[in-house]
Amino acid sequence: MRQELCNKLTARFKFLCNFGMDGKRYNFVPKCGDGWFNLIWSMCIEVEQELLKEYNTLEYTQIETKFVIHEIKEKWGAMSVFCMLGGTKNIYDIINKYEVLSERICEICGLSGRTVKVNGWYTTLCIEHYLREVRSILGAFKYLWPR
Ligand SMILES: [Zn+2]
Repeated sequence: MRQELCNKLTARFKFLCNFGMDGKRYNFVPKCGDGWFNLIWSMCIEVEQELLKEYNTLEYTQIETKFVIHEIKEKWGAMSVFCMLGGTKNIYDIINKYEVLSERICEICGLSGRTVKVNGWYTTLCIEHYLREVRSILGAFKYLWPR
């Protein structure tokens, strides 16, 4: 995901923090396409409401010690969210809902999509981006049919 979008997320949602094994804080960068930005945003809004209900605060240091999402990435064509500290069951239900939703949203552009296998990898794409991928793969193999 491009930096500008990552910055928007981390500026708004303080529970998105990437702590290394060394305890240091690193840049939080979702390892997925820009197409899932709105999905992540909506998920975080719902998580935030739940945190507010549960802890009565969105004050940064207090939230940070209670709940942290430290990684978001694409796996088998779906979004995977990793939490470092405990959340509530409601929070995990919200996260799970959005992980499932990601299987129907193009990771590149955010339009309606489905999980397909391209060049041996699972990915979730709209029809347009699927065709683009397939064409580029076919283009790469043109040399097999010399003129
Ligand atoms: Zn697309």
